[in-house]
This record gives sequence, structure tokens and C-alpha cells, in this order.
Amino acid sequence: MNNFNVLRTKMVEQQLISRGIRDKRTLDIFRKVPRELFVDDKYLDNSYEDHPLPIGNGQTISQPYIVALMTESLLLSPADKVLEIGTGSGYQTAILAMMCREVYSIERFPELAKKAQKVLGDLEIKNVTVKIADGSIGWEEQAPFDAILAGASAPKVPEPLLEQLNENGRLVIPVGSMYSQTLLKLVKKGGVVERKEICGCVFVPMVGEYGWTNER
Ligand code: SAH
Repeated sequence: MNNFNVLRTKMVEQQLISRGIRDKRTLDIFRKVPRELFVDDKYLDNSYEDHPLPIGNGQTISQPYIVALMTESLLLSPADKVLEIGTGSGYQTAILAMMCREVYSIERFPELAKKAQKVLGDLEIKNVTVKIADGSIGWEEQAPFDAILAGASAPKVPEPLLEQLNENGRLVIPVGSMYSQTLLKLVKKGGVVERKEICGCVFVPMVGEYGWTNER
């Protein structure tokens, strides 16, 4: 095994399984996706460390555990159509693409979207569509979605995202202040939205109409 494969296997054991990630499909996919391809060259040696890393434009690739926790919380099935807000490096996007039928991912920085699309292309992942836009308003033309994952935090749950969920649709999103949030899971059932708190977390801000008006 090359060094990255060893580090990836260890990351799954020491960061995911040891903290309670149990879903077999999620763990299998984390054993496969080469995180080192989504990390800035400067941080290659840090690819499998237990924290976020800078990816440019003041943004970060999320900590592996939080990516796994959000993925597992969405209870994804292979037939699902998923919306992601905040493509960033594309690492979470690749994982969603391997779990589901179709992924629509929105990023506000063209440079990040371009880099992510290149890596997803190199990995021959074909069921992802990326657009550059404000994801806080969702993607109305493609709605409804079985699951929505927000990789950036909002002051409150953006109403359009709830509207664009299917019956039994799940939304995972960090909500709170600019510097500290609670990861929420919302499930739409019979027109009613159930809300559950997963854990405390810190994400970069979702900047847009239903997010923050600026980055500070
Ligand atoms: N899961 C990604 C997280 C990237 S950080 C990864 O691990 O790489 C969150 C991303 O959300 C950033 O790239 C940021 O630019 C993007 N973002 C913030 N607000 C947004 C908005 N309103 N619409 C789309 N993308 C947004």
C-alpha cells in the first residue's frame, strides 16, 4: 500500500470508527476517496490529519470526521438526488456522488468550483453538476431534493432549502453565530419539519441572501 492508502485507512479507524461513525457504506467510501487530491499542494503531508485545511479564497476543506458525520446523518440511498451548498474542495461532493444517484453542488467562488470540477473529472465522477451561484437560495430548477447538505453556516435555516426538500427529505446544516454553530438535522414529513441537534461545530459562513451578508 502506498503511504496515502495507509494514512486513509488509519483516518477511518482512528477518526471515524472510534468516534461512532457506523454506516458501512459511508465507511467504505471514506476508505476509497483520495482526500490528498482535494488538498492544496502545500498541505499534502497533512491530508489525513484530524482538522480542516486552507483551500484558498479564505475557505477550508472540512475535517474528515465532520464530513463523515454529515454524510451519515443524511441516511442516503443510491437513488437519492442531493443538493450541496459550498462545493469548496469537492471532497464532500465526491463522497456524496459515490453514495447517491445525482449531486447538484453550488459554490460562490469560481476558482474553487473550477479546481473541484477538475479533480472530480480526474476521478471520473460523472454524476455531479456544479454551478457558481448563491446556494442559500437553493437550486429551484432542480428541486425537489431527497437530501441537502450545507457545508457553510447560516444565522438561521434558509427557508428556500426547506421548500426544496422532498417528502421525507433531510437537510443537514450548521446554524448559529459567525464563529460557533450547532449542526442541525431537519426532516420534512407530511409538511411538518422535525428538527434535531447533532453537535456543536465551527464552519465558514454561508454568504448570501439567506445566509450572512458578508464574511465578518
Ligand atoms: N465540504 C467542503 C467545505 C468547503 S467550505 C470541503 O470540505 O471542501 C464551505 C464552502 O462554502 C466554501 O467554499 C465557500 O466559498 C462556500 N460558500 C459559502 N457561502 C456560499 C453560498 N451562499 N453559496 C455557495 N457556496 C458558498
